Amino acid sequence: MTTEHATARINPWAVAQQQFDLAAEKLGLDAGMRAVLREPRREFTVHFPVHMDDGSVRVFTGYRVQHNLGRGPAKGGIRYHQDVSIDEVKALAMWMTWKCAVVGIPYGGGKGGVIVDPKQLSMRELEALTRRFFTEIEVLVGPEKDIPAPDVNTNAQVMAWMMDTYSMHAGYTVPGVVTGKPISLGGSEGRNEATARGTVYCIVEAARHLGIELKKAKVAVQGFGNAGSIAAQLIVAEGSTVVAVSDSTGGIHNPNGLDVNKVIAWKKEHGTVQGFPGATDIGNEQVLEVECEILIPAALENQITERNADKVKARLIAEAANGPTTPEADRILWKKSKFMIPDILCNAGGVTVSYFEWVQDLNRDHWSEEIVNAKLKEIMVKAFTSVLAIARREQCDMRTAAYLLAVERVADAMAMRGLYP
Ligand code: GLU
Repeated sequence: MTTEHATARINPWAVAQQQFDLAAEKLGLDAGMRAVLREPRREFTVHFPVHMDDGSVRVFTGYRVQHNLGRGPAKGGIRYHQDVSIDEVKALAMWMTWKCAVVGIPYGGGKGGVIVDPKQLSMRELEALTRRFFTEIEVLVGPEKDIPAPDVNTNAQVMAWMMDTYSMHAGYTVPGVVTGKPISLGGSEGRNEATARGTVYCIVEAARHLGIELKKAKVAVQGFGNAGSIAAQLIVAEGSTVVAVSDSTGGIHNPNGLDVNKVIAWKKEHGTVQGFPGATDIGNEQVLEVECEILIPAALENQITERNADKVKARLIAEAANGPTTPEADRILWKKSKFMIPDILCNAGGVTVSYFEWVQDLNRDHWSEEIVNAKLKEIMVKAFTSVLAIARREQCDMRTAAYLLAVERVADAMAMRGLYP
């Protein structure tokens, strides 16, 4: 999804540290605390072999990073993507620390990734890669230590293999070791939709604040995976019109609206959203620039940069993806009075329902979807309201406000624990 020149030039870890520095400065964080929070606690790299279907052995590289454990065990997804790098995983782990703090769930931040294009693997190869990778990172993970979850190109099936691998080694079933599992294995109702649902709860709040009428709003969605495709469905349920969507192969546009369910069926059949009847094929970048009120980046990092930020037409930007906007772009958007719902708030619904799943697993309990969604809404609305209040008080953008809230919570926890030994 990321354009090649964008990934080549912009390092997500540098972006994450810049965002943190800004908040640390504003909070007047002392130098020691700043130095601690600026780096990940643990970075783990593994190179591991997998038997391929053609009889060969291929060695893959993967990572698990734990940024901070001050508020609880590490939490965060594992992504499979050909562009994964240690710096990307470090950034994603740091963002998880802030995300869990913004919504007030008792976790630190972690993230994992394997350098692989899973679309090139057979199911058997994908399972073998997953089981071996999870075995390699088992020294770090566990229901009290570090709890992985789905991310880009990983899903409930992959989580089931991870849970099974861990459980086989333990000798008994340990559902709480990963979240985002199938419902039949201790997964939570509503987890699959949670990232998108949380995003839409935020959009509803922001639209009310901005006076945007959702029933008249046009929406563009970049990325059509778990977050993007479900966000598109849920925003249509709010009465909005989705005019453009894209996936890693490109985008489509119809100013009169796209039938989202039909686009989902089209993509399932053709492997791409492009060529959808009645729509014009457009490039991935153009999706960010179409005429609309609401833009939902739901793909990868570094999509809105200083190169295209002033071309964004939407008044409201809701980051379902992690890290889609660079700090330079943030400044441009802020000057143009755009309202940004930052990733660490906007897409926190996923990890929030992961937390519910973990709580259910540890208690051998199962909640209804109504209960899950009601609890999710309460947490998202509360977080949104708190961040908006800080933005108004400090006269700053919503990302800075979310960072102020999150970094302060983490720094408080760290200070109360004190430095060991
Ligand atoms: N990968 C998701 C995220 O970026 C979910 C993480 C989780 O559920 O632990 O927030």
